[in-house]
Amino acid sequence: MSHITVHVENRNEEHTLEEFFAMTSEGSLPQAMVVRTSRSSFLRTMSILAHRYLCFHGTGDDACMSCRSWSDLFHPDLLIAGTQDTAPGIEECRHLAAGLSLAPFCAPRRLGVVLCADILSLPAANSLLKMVEEPPPSAHLLLFIEADRLLPTLRSRVWQLSISSEEPSPIQAPPEGKAEWIRRISEKRGTNAEDVTEELRQWCSYLIRNGHGLKAQRLETLRNFSEKNRLAVSMLQDLAYLALEEEYPVECLFDDFW
Ligand SMILES: [Zn+2]
Repeated sequence: MSHITVHVENRNEEHTLEEFFAMTSEGSLPQAMVVRTSRSSFLRTMSILAHRYLCFHGTGDDACMSCRSWSDLFHPDLLIAGTQDTAPGIEECRHLAAGLSLAPFCAPRRLGVVLCADILSLPAANSLLKMVEEPPPSAHLLLFIEADRLLPTLRSRVWQLSISSEEPSPIQAPPEGKAEWIRRISEKRGTNAEDVTEELRQWCSYLIRNGHGLKAQRLETLRNFSEKNRLAVSMLQDLAYLALEEEYPVECLFDDFW
């Protein structure tokens, strides 16, 4: 499973979403993703995303069985918890999880949507953890937030798509060339693994933004593996170097461990 942070600068919403779908077209759509936008845009954005997620051809607007099943904001494989102004309670979250474990009725997947996930109660947020960690095979989950506030354990496991008018913070590029790698690696020696994984997260966003999806995936696999297995800083750095500079498929190294 891969979790990637995608920050897309605000231009207009549809353009941003097109960019997102273009970035994900090579791989699969993220199974769990946070969508950050204003509350007033929740339903509109959800509708655009859901049409595409649920379409058999990914267009969201054709004559496939799934596209023909829409009626206003209702679709048999779309489950919505919460409203534009209120977060769902724990029961509603559990209900959503149960619904998502069913096989799709008329779409390639089932899509769960949690609105106002930034104001979820702690028990409600916790009840979503398992689904985010190990989503049922055909389930996808979108968490809509306005404020940049989400349970850290949830956040670390999901992609993020930002459609906000705020200036995105500058994103650090990964090093390029041996000399630069050596310099950056020695700077981080002696720091803790969290520092390094945070750096990897930034590189990932940079790579995604610049069209290097495969490298980003690789790095995310590495970051996830490291978080689960507490790799030493030096090993994490060496593997990051292999993944990016040598383009070595580091994910193959982990196959036996997952
Ligand atoms: Zn369709």
